[in-house]
Amino acid sequence: MPAEPDSRQTLRDRFADVRTRIETAARASDRSLEEITLVAITKTHPAETLRAAIDLGMHDLGENRVQEAEDKIVEVGRSAARWHLVGHLQANKARRAVGLFDVIHSLDSDALAKRLDRMCVEEKRESLDVLVQVDLGGEATKSGIEAAQLPVLLATLKECPRLRLIGLMTLPPYFENPDCSRPFFKTLRKLRDELQDQGHFGFGSSSGKGELSMGMSHDFEVAIEEGATMIRVGTALFGERS
Ligand SMILES: *Cc1c(COP(=O)(O)O)cnc(C)c1O
Repeated sequence: MPAEPDSRQTLRDRFADVRTRIETAARASDRSLEEITLVAITKTHPAETLRAAIDLGMHDLGENRVQEAEDKIVEVGRSAARWHLVGHLQANKARRAVGLFDVIHSLDSDALAKRLDRMCVEEKRESLDVLVQVDLGGEATKSGIEAAQLPVLLATLKECPRLRLIGLMTLPPYFENPDCSRPFFKTLRKLRDELQDQGHFGFGSSSGKGELSMGMSHDFEVAIEEGATMIRVGTALFGERS
C-alpha cells in the first residue's frame, strides 16, 4: 500500500523533531553530532515506509526479526541502507542474518559468535560488525549476556576472525521516567571504557573507541548524555506500532 502524501509529511515532521531532540541533547552534553548515529527502527512497518525513510535521509535502518527483515530488505534493496539487526538472533537464522545485515547488535552467546563466524566463511563474507548485547537489568530484560560473562565471550571473539567487535548494546527494562534508564547507560559506558582500554575494539573500527548502542524513543536524550553513539528509535519516527 503506497504511503499517503500526508503520512510522508508526518514522517518528515517526526524526523525533524527527532533530529532537534538529538541536537539539543548533544549540545547539552557537549558532544559532536557526527559521533551519534540514528538507527531508525522499522519493525512492523511496510517496505513503503522504509523507502520513505531512506528518501528523507535515514541511512541506517534497524529490524528485530530476520524473516520480516528479509522480506523488506529484498523489496527495498540490500544496498539501499545500512541494515542493523537489533533483536535476538536464533542460531538457525545466522546464515540468513549474515547475508542480510551490516551490523548485528544482539550478539549474546559464544555459540552464536562461533556460528556467525563460520557462516561468514561459508558465505564468503570477509567481515561482519557485531555488538555484544549486555543484560544489565537481570530478570527484567529479555536477552543479552550478563556482564560477568563478557570475558569469556571476548575470548571466543578472538577466535572468530571474521567478526569485528565494534561495541556494546543494552536494552534496559522499560521505565515511565527516562531518567531511570540512566544507571544502565552509565554501566554500559563503564564496560565499554574498560574494553576500550584493553584494546578490544582495535579492529580498525571507528578509531577503536567502541560504539555504545543505547537509547530508544523515550530515553535517547538520556542515552546521548551518557555517551550513546548509536540510538535506536522507532516510535518517535514512525508512530505507535499496532
Ligand atoms: C523496537 C526496538 C527499539 C525501538 O523502540 P521505540 O521505543 O519504538 O523507539 C529499539 N531497540 C530494540 C532492540 C527494539 O526492539
